[in-house]
Amino acid sequence: MTIVFKVSEPLKGKMVEFYKDKRREKTPPYAVFQATDADTIITLYESGKVMFQGISADIDANMWAEMEKKISGKKININEGKEKKEKKDKERKSLYRLNTIGSDEVGVGDYFGPIVVTAAYVPKSQISFVEDLGVRDSKALTDEKILSIAPTLIKEISHCTYILNNEDYNKYQKMGYNMNKIKAILHNKVLFLEKKKHQDYDKIVVDQFVYPAKYFEHIKEAQEKVEDITFLTKAESVCASVAVASCISRYVFLKKMDELSDTLHLPVLKGAGVDVDKLAADIVKTYGREKLQTIAKLNFRNTEKLNEYL
Ligand code: MG
Repeated sequence: MTIVFKVSEPLKGKMVEFYKDKRREKTPPYAVFQATDADTIITLYESGKVMFQGISADIDANMWAEMEKKISGKKININEGKEKKEKKDKERKSLYRLNTIGSDEVGVGDYFGPIVVTAAYVPKSQISFVEDLGVRDSKALTDEKILSIAPTLIKEISHCTYILNNEDYNKYQKMGYNMNKIKAILHNKVLFLEKKKHQDYDKIVVDQFVYPAKYFEHIKEAQEKVEDITFLTKAESVCASVAVASCISRYVFLKKMDELSDTLHLPVLKGAGVDVDKLAADIVKTYGREKLQTIAKLNFRNTEKLNEYL
């Protein structure tokens, strides 16, 4: 059993005092302390969140909930965390059967190639079509499968794709935009365009890569914003439009990588590992260092590491 709730500053102080002899040697990140009392583990976080774990967690939790009421008058519902989680789970389950606009991006972990972001609109009437193509578990699909199904998706599903080329990416970086800001700007762009085409959606879903508050901070300068967003982690497994967006983005990315391989006359690799360092060094030898400006994300560590192979 795990119970989580937030306590006031005065109660935090009381808890620190109460558990001072029962503290565990190690304190988890962002925690004030972690203690063991009988078979309950108590963790108090700097934020005021407290977590009780163990078969009799409710006993300790109830004791502190009552104490909170006495000290600050604040009523704590010890089942709140559980209820929130149940609500979230239910929301995730029901999402698959709604008209949704969803977005996802590809290329953010790859030294070479662009960042591709897509927003797709999948109405209820197209969900089984999408499922029949095998889109549901888009993260688990091989490149081969993506290449075979994405052309059908591109033809049949309403979507909007934006490709951020490396030159522009490198410009953004120079302006001080970090990866999450760039992603937020691009997601907002494609969502806005897709939303304009469809008024009958139930939900707009983004595969979460940053806290919602931070997302909106990143796009605060945008003229046109989409604000009615449901952020979900692993959204591609619970939302058909996100799964489609993910497939199309990957397809476009793979095609762009093929084009790049053709123009460079060598197979360009995905990712950002050691093989990529070596390949980048080869490219610098043949085409000069300035070539990287237009084909790679220069702020990645690969730009430094390729020097070892020159
Ligand atoms: Mg994603």
